[in-house]
Amino acid sequence: MRLDGILLWDGTEARGPVDIDWEPDRIGEVRPAAQRHDDLCVIPGLVDTHVHLVGYAGPHRPPPDFATWPLVTTRDEQVLHGAAHAQRAMRNGVTTLRDLAGDEAQIALRRAFDTGVLPGPRVQVHGVVGMTAGHNDLFVPPAFPQRKPTADGPDECRKLVRTWARAGMDGIKLTTSGGVLSIGDKNAWRNYTREEIRAVVDEAHALGMLVASHAHSEDGIRVAAEEGVDSIEHGTLMSRDLAETLAARRTPVAPTLLINEAIAAGRVPVTPEAMAKAAELVARRDVLLAEAARLGVRFVLGTDANGHHVQFGDQLAEVVRMTEVLGMDAESALRAATSDAADAIGAPVGRIAPGLGADLVVLRGRPWERIEDLTTENIVAVVSRGRLVAGALPGPRP
Ligand SMILES: [Zn+2]
Repeated sequence: MRLDGILLWDGTEARGPVDIDWEPDRIGEVRPAAQRHDDLCVIPGLVDTHVHLVGYAGPHRPPPDFATWPLVTTRDEQVLHGAAHAQRAMRNGVTTLRDLAGDEAQIALRRAFDTGVLPGPRVQVHGVVGMTAGHNDLFVPPAFPQRKPTADGPDECRKLVRTWARAGMDGIKLTTSGGVLSIGDKNAWRNYTREEIRAVVDEAHALGMLVASHAHSEDGIRVAAEEGVDSIEHGTLMSRDLAETLAARRTPVAPTLLINEAIAAGRVPVTPEAMAKAAELVARRDVLLAEAARLGVRFVLGTDANGHHVQFGDQLAEVVRMTEVLGMDAESALRAATSDAADAIGAPVGRIAPGLGADLVVLRGRPWERIEDLTTENIVAVVSRGRLVAGALPGPRP
């Protein structure tokens, strides 16, 4: 397959018109060419470093209750929703997804997409290591008897990391503060002692896995950064000295802007508790994160999309929101959603260059100059793993 005479933004910068060819899932040559399509460009498929595939994917609005849907829906049915979410993201130009609370369901989806059983995006899966009464534990209502695994104390933490490694996880998700959607905790609750965090990071790194740490609170971000996690998820209450530390370490931070705003404003069905917790964060967030961006913190695209609060496909709006809240220019935001997001999770995509995976989005406009051009309506075609999965590739101009 090929594209001829199309303006290229390669994941880093604009390169002028090129001819590109690819065979199943490998970009071949990228050669300068005469421009044939005045209004079109091609950019790499986007990379969302923080999603939750398994949530309600049906058409009903408002969606069913976030906390109880998983408890009243069989796992088999949940997996189908996860597949639908992944394919929806892919058709919207988001061709790599990292699921940050996976189990065998997400592993099954990853394998089905990798082997071509179903067309789907590239998926990475992280297993959660969280404490009893921690953020992840409290997604399940406290009174419900069937609960997800937790780990307390350094030894149990190591064992849960090893269990996830055995299951074939790409990485570990750690929680070092409370959260918004967990039931009955506070954002400021400590999640794990330093010794437990150190055990998780040491064990995960020994087994070749990256550690992504959920942290809203200042203390939670600090201890995760000091103990060497590989990314901060949310990072909401990032003080100036923390921003300097994270910038110096080049630690990626996924700011998950839209979800906290939607919950704080009650634009999606949420409990009064979650609304209050999100509002408390959003009230302080914008000043802190804009300052962090000025200090050079490495923000990457991460939405927390789950089908209930943020939809798959809202990634494009999140990139636009990154320019507004963080003050990034259009090109920096686009890098944060392509080449830099791919680097942050070690995926061989995010750039259009020979030898890389063939994930391409053909768009109307020039989003590296006008980020508002990055919309679903402007998508002309999406190529995922070398296959056309949405729209139609532009042919020769009449
Ligand atoms: Zn999340």
